[in-house]
Amino acid sequence: MHTPSKPNKPTTGTNLEHARLHNRRVVLEAIRQAGRLTRADLTRITSLTAQTISNIVAELLHEAKLFAHAPEKTARGQPPIPLSINPDGGYSIGFHVEQHQVVAVLLDLKGTTRGRRVFAVSYPTFAEALPLLMKGVDGFRRKVSTERLLGIGIALPGPFGVQGMSAVGPTSMPGWDDPQSLAALRDMSGLPVLVENDATAAAMGERLYGVAGGLKDFGYLFVGHGLGSGLYLDNRLYSGHWRNAGEIGHVVFTPNGKPCYCGKQGCLERYVSGASLLEHLGTGADRNLSDLDLSERQHAAGVDRWLAEAAPALRHAVGMLESLLDPETVLVGGTLSDDILGRLVVQAHPLFPSVSVREERTLARLQLGTAGHDCVALGAAALVVLAELSPDYHALLKA
Ligand SMILES: [Zn+2]
Repeated sequence: MHTPSKPNKPTTGTNLEHARLHNRRVVLEAIRQAGRLTRADLTRITSLTAQTISNIVAELLHEAKLFAHAPEKTARGQPPIPLSINPDGGYSIGFHVEQHQVVAVLLDLKGTTRGRRVFAVSYPTFAEALPLLMKGVDGFRRKVSTERLLGIGIALPGPFGVQGMSAVGPTSMPGWDDPQSLAALRDMSGLPVLVENDATAAAMGERLYGVAGGLKDFGYLFVGHGLGSGLYLDNRLYSGHWRNAGEIGHVVFTPNGKPCYCGKQGCLERYVSGASLLEHLGTGADRNLSDLDLSERQHAAGVDRWLAEAAPALRHAVGMLESLLDPETVLVGGTLSDDILGRLVVQAHPLFPSVSVREERTLARLQLGTAGHDCVALGAAALVVLAELSPDYHALLKA
């Protein structure tokens, strides 16, 4: 999500341009959260001077990022003008890249989906997928004003830039986070590009569109072809120093267990992942799970065998996240069907005793995400919008 800072880098001060951009985002974020605010509200909420608010609002109105509504009626004095985010003030594009498909979404500044496309692929390299990505970008460009496109967010399976594991295997997509590849897309599209792992983007998607709305601390276990987790801590995403935080797929769950592509044995994702489900179904590891109807009788025994193996592994992963993060809840989502994920959650119970067992809890310790299958693409696109709106995301587009 961001470029790791160099060791021992001194803390830098802020300059005027930095401060101006920061204040813009503070104003936009305040309006986004409240829905509608007047200049006087903004002055009170942000503690910025009336003059600064006035300048920023004038700039944002000029850029059409804000709407000015009809003045409120007051007995005396100048009537206050409510301001809101203009949905058409900016758009972002999100791609969820998987082994078998690329989902593309177009999001407006208020977070509403304005376009969606799905492309079938098969283990694409970046070079193979680039024309498809550009097809998606060009298609969306025809829908909205090009100059209001803010950027592209790409979410794909991690880990990124891994050294020291003999191979990361078919559950990852090596080369996609290569700066040269991303630069090619940036140059062809003329738009900033950010890349994030699928579990982290899904956590953001769930925070904005699903059951995690309003939560401050949660873990998200993403069951795709492999297994990863997204970490939303203290009201923001946590990516780690090398953007691999939450990559728990290759944590050993059973010593001397199933051999893994990474060179170890008994890794979590050898038990709880789409790839491990395919093994139990006996269909070949490179099949597209969404082509199979798992409710068919011929798959029942394989699904049951997988659930019996995957549920204890998931229980273990939940225990790890709870001990490390002390979250409000742990969510499960991914590219498997809701039916299968729902059964997995049920079978993972009872969970291990942990620090998360508390009488005052209002949320279940483990629950299914509700943001749907576009959750990852929406999260990736939302990261671009948040980079424009939120003061916490100012570092996002520097890569
Ligand atoms: Zn492994």
